[in-house]
Amino acid sequence: MGGEGTTRRELAVLAGAATLAALADGVVRPRPAAARLWRGMAREMIQLNANENPYGPSAAARAAMTAAQEVASRYPGDLEEELRAVLAARHGVGEDQIVLGCGSGEMAFLGDGRSVVVAEPTFEAVLMYAGVARGEPVRVPLDGEHRHDLAAMARACDARTGLVYVCNPNNPTGTVATTAALAAFLAKVPPATVVLLDEAYLDFVEDEACGTLIARLAAHPNLIVVRTFSKVYGLAGMRLGYAVAAPDKSAALRRHATTNNANAAVLAAALASLAEPDLVASVRTRMNDTRRALCAELARDGRRFIEPHANFVMIGLGSDVAPVIAAFRERKILVGRKFPSMPTWLRVSVGTPEEMAAFLRALREIVPAAGAAAA
Ligand code: PMP
Repeated sequence: MGGEGTTRRELAVLAGAATLAALADGVVRPRPAAARLWRGMAREMIQLNANENPYGPSAAARAAMTAAQEVASRYPGDLEEELRAVLAARHGVGEDQIVLGCGSGEMAFLGDGRSVVVAEPTFEAVLMYAGVARGEPVRVPLDGEHRHDLAAMARACDARTGLVYVCNPNNPTGTVATTAALAAFLAKVPPATVVLLDEAYLDFVEDEACGTLIARLAAHPNLIVVRTFSKVYGLAGMRLGYAVAAPDKSAALRRHATTNNANAAVLAAALASLAEPDLVASVRTRMNDTRRALCAELARDGRRFIEPHANFVMIGLGSDVAPVIAAFRERKILVGRKFPSMPTWLRVSVGTPEEMAAFLRALREIVPAAGAAAA
């Protein structure tokens, strides 16, 4: 998953257009356009629209991916097993409880004909995979502080609810639920309803009252926790995520997944990343420091923003965000898409300090600070 950035959609469209052009003139040519454009965009556009890690994988992970060329001709079963063992030890669960996915989105599932409860707004793409999105989801608005209204979400779950999705921290608001609040929520959700807890951004959270709920799996066999290597580990383009669940749930998830759905290079990169004891903390500090500097500037301008806990910030503009996104684009800066239930809010991902300086310069041109206070 993760293809929420305009960049990727455009690439897909262009790749398609190139194929059509080749078919139209009857000549089958190689399709270098998409690859060239990808590199061109990375060079020319500042990409603050998909909550990626601007620094990319660690040096050790890069070296591991290069070395993985040596085993490119072999199926990656051994590496999968090794990674599942490392993750199981790290999370204190059995190896059979870890299911690898081609990104974390592959890990959602729901019994036939049952409904889904989600917050509004939240990251919904995860619900589009593995046949989850069968009907209109029941949308529960965030509370007055843009956090999941967990009590209302629990009340919205009934016997027909197949799955309730909680994104912690929440995309796009960057708000976070405490471990205690989530534990109380788990106690209220009917046991037949699967709780899909998406911890994609949890590695960025500094508040010690907030942590993973993996330790609650034994008490709540209806819980599935999904994690990804796309964010803090900087491997979004390589595609690797995983679910942690009770053995029966992980067996069910595995039935939905493709065999060998993770490639040797990303498995090697993940193993190398996990072997680096300080990697997560150092990326967290580096990116959160940049975020803090951005927020200090936003506050100095008198702008409204939601207190962020992940690698992106929601900024209140007070007017429709669509023309603002377009104006950023003209300045070669990609920022987050419009979220229909928060149409006057701009989501910007944390990039490098230089990228954030460019973002701030453009923001001050496009939405001068004086008009920014009331969103
Ligand atoms: N969960 C959330 C909350 C996300 O925001 C994203 C990416 N934008 C993902 C999952 C996607 O993760 P992956 O790359 O592992 O599919």
